[in-house]
Amino acid sequence: MAQAKKALAKKARKSSGRAANRSRSKTYQNYIGGRWVPSAGGEWIENINPADTRDVVGRFPSSTEEDVDRAVSAAADAFDHWRRTPAPRRAEILFRLGEILIRNKDVYAADMTREMGKVLKETGGDVQEAIDCTYYTAGEGRRLHGFTTPAEMPNKFAMCVRQPVGLCGLITPWNFPMAIPSWKLIPALVCGNTVVIKPAEDTPLSTYNLVKACEEAGVPPGVVNLVTGYGETVGAEMTNHSALRLISFTGSTDTGRLVASACAERNAICSLEMGGKNVIIVMEDADVDNAIEGAVWGAFGTSGQRCTASSRVVVHKKVYRQFANEDGATLACGGQRLTKGDQARGFFIEPTVFTDVAPHMRVAQEEIFGPVTSVIPTNSLDEAIEIANGVRYGLSAAIYTQDVNRAFHAMNETYTGIFYVNASTIGAEVHLPFGGTKATGNGHREAGTQVLDIFSEWKSVYFDYSGKLQRAQIDEVEV
Ligand code: ADP
Repeated sequence: MAQAKKALAKKARKSSGRAANRSRSKTYQNYIGGRWVPSAGGEWIENINPADTRDVVGRFPSSTEEDVDRAVSAAADAFDHWRRTPAPRRAEILFRLGEILIRNKDVYAADMTREMGKVLKETGGDVQEAIDCTYYTAGEGRRLHGFTTPAEMPNKFAMCVRQPVGLCGLITPWNFPMAIPSWKLIPALVCGNTVVIKPAEDTPLSTYNLVKACEEAGVPPGVVNLVTGYGETVGAEMTNHSALRLISFTGSTDTGRLVASACAERNAICSLEMGGKNVIIVMEDADVDNAIEGAVWGAFGTSGQRCTASSRVVVHKKVYRQFANEDGATLACGGQRLTKGDQARGFFIEPTVFTDVAPHMRVAQEEIFGPVTSVIPTNSLDEAIEIANGVRYGLSAAIYTQDVNRAFHAMNETYTGIFYVNASTIGAEVHLPFGGTKATGNGHREAGTQVLDIFSEWKSVYFDYSGKLQRAQIDEVEV
């Protein structure tokens, strides 16, 4: 969909049918050093409603390398003041941000539905996740716990404190355009970093709303800088910018690899959250009705456009027919674009189910990011676990069973970052770590307190009050 929307944005400039809507659509700007400014290059990207492509939501700066450079300079100028601001004071500003998000939740949800097509209930959930993340993570302003630990020499004290990493570049995707930016922005800020954020070119409005709310909450100029534009220009410039100490990226595995390589070249910290090919295992003792509901929600909620979407359902043969009532079919239903009536004006596709899928098939291996799921028959739990692990990704897995022993066995044996029992593969909560194994990530976790390990650096502190030279590992200590 991202590609299709990009192509449409280009087409929109030419299409006379959209001229009237375009003249009514608002022009937005970048936010750099506390000021709203156009791109140095003077180019724009039209943000088009994917449910009705005649509707131009707004035009946003198609920014350049110069814009990124200015934003990074602004973040650098603001850094010392922000990192020296006591963390509880930083958090107070973020709690105010949370209040603003609550107050505007309905407006933000409507804006989000218009720019990216998720239904209102779900965009409300997206904003709610940003609210939850803000309140939960702002609370860290009064914790940001380090630790003390014994030193091995007498009259010596040892402790560990968290310090900000510095200037952070945040690159985010279009499917959760407020929640995902908040997952990165709020911990970055509470830890004392300053940031440049680039939302997906398809959905800049929701991130604009978040940044505007930061301004209203009193986040000082330069602490948060917004630069909109294409990944190949703005995103690539950020990943290569020598002053950005950290890049936090969510998006496709292919792009994540480019980001990781660029960061490796310049020894920057890089946190990646990428694709998934998530699985629900349904055993013969499952509550099948509950499992079907979970599978439908996991596969077709958010049109299947979640990195945790249930795009494989591995079903024990004894209950397989209850799940997939088409004998031997490959395409059980769906697969077509919907083009009638109002749907003709947007990007709509039927919910699609493939049955009798073999685990090695392309449809069961590659991330699809659409309302498509594959039903795979299995003979046993161990075989189901092997299928679950037999993909390049490792984000989320689920099992439906009434047998606690099987549930724990499956939890232990699936190599994923998230696991559910008798629930679908989607529905992560902000106070638990989020992320995955293999091609899904690079070992980091967002959300929870674990995200603080991305956005802060540990400093180990040794405090010797013996008044003499003491050499660790060399001097004998009398006991
Ligand atoms: P999706 O397929 O979900 O659109 P992408 O990985 O293409 O995922 O995009 C996720 C984010 O990465 C977007 O903000 C996009 O603009 C950005 N991006 C795309 N290409 C690059 C790149 N070469 N370097 C840095 N960021 C990029």
